[in-house]
Amino acid sequence: MRAILHTANGVETRDDVEVRDPEVGEVLVRIAASGVCHSDVSVLEGVIEWPAPAVLGHEGAGIVEKIGAGVTAVKPGDHVVITTIAACGMCRYCQTGHPNRCRQTLGNRSTPFSIGGEPVWNFAGASTYAELTLVKEIQCVTIPEDVPLTSACLVPCGVTTGAGAVFNRANVLPGQSAAVIGLGGVGLSAVQALRLKGAGRIVGVDTVPGKFDLARQFGATDFVQAGNGVDVADEIRGLLPFSDITKVGPAGAGGVDWIFECTGVPAVLENAMEALDWGGTLIAVGQPSQTATATIRIANLLQCDRGILGTRAGGIRPHEDIRAIIELYRHGRFDLDALVSKVYASDRFDEVLTDMHQGRIARGVLAF
Ligand SMILES: [Zn+2]
Ligand SMILES: [Zn+2]
Repeated sequence: MRAILHTANGVETRDDVEVRDPEVGEVLVRIAASGVCHSDVSVLEGVIEWPAPAVLGHEGAGIVEKIGAGVTAVKPGDHVVITTIAACGMCRYCQTGHPNRCRQTLGNRSTPFSIGGEPVWNFAGASTYAELTLVKEIQCVTIPEDVPLTSACLVPCGVTTGAGAVFNRANVLPGQSAAVIGLGGVGLSAVQALRLKGAGRIVGVDTVPGKFDLARQFGATDFVQAGNGVDVADEIRGLLPFSDITKVGPAGAGGVDWIFECTGVPAVLENAMEALDWGGTLIAVGQPSQTATATIRIANLLQCDRGILGTRAGGIRPHEDIRAIIELYRHGRFDLDALVSKVYASDRFDEVLTDMHQGRIARGVLAF
């Protein structure tokens, strides 16, 4: 079968990859569509360290092909979205509504694939850049058949990371202000979630002004074009000044209540902290390398009640949050279709990478 691999020599698309049969509690899924998330690119760029060869891809949707012994939640023919969160369901995190913190969801690499008898690693427990993939039963979230799989495939990572940062990690009150930095699939999903939460001003920030139209359609009210030495925090404060007379009030008053930092660039985060109003919180959503650091001005936190939080996958509770987004989508309240900039044939991965790097697309989708 066809699969897209991370190899010692870079990315490779091959048609001779094999996958083993499902064992106890496992499900074989025929992938229909897979979103191209930046984390896959981070593996290729070495920002995320991963053994090679490995089948990439971690946000996908498809149809159940075959189930292993003991599987009861899904059956062949079911439409499913695949989550990377292979939670145990029994630990203190799973039992308190935080399966994204379940220890079982990290570091459990395996080799369900092979080429000519040689083992091939999976990626993020999902490996959705393949015609068939093998996952655990708990990773399959069933969805109604009327939802296009090319749109549904974005939900388990990009959409729930951005929307979940708003719904699960923040506590946005009606009328509060927010800035979303980085308007890719994650940031645009945060914008849509902020609109649903009743945020007042929603400032979209990106280096590519072409993204502003889509952001406006999703609920953003203001825009800042970053790059070329622009001080983003100063621009945000210009949009939400302390008063008619001064942009910045005592102890940095003025600015926004919430910031969702989706770029993962340390300098962007450092600058954004200076755009928070009293009581404001920045949520770090974008993922930098494991060793990246940022400098925080402590007085800024103390004066007055500012904070910074991180989130893994938007605090996702897959079986609850994915279904919630799908329900919102089916009732015209959350737009997934417009997030899909383009559907590419599965042998055009290089084209997706080029379009991503040029900032031309919100999300590219590979059809298998
Ligand atoms: Zn992702
Ligand atoms: Zn657990």
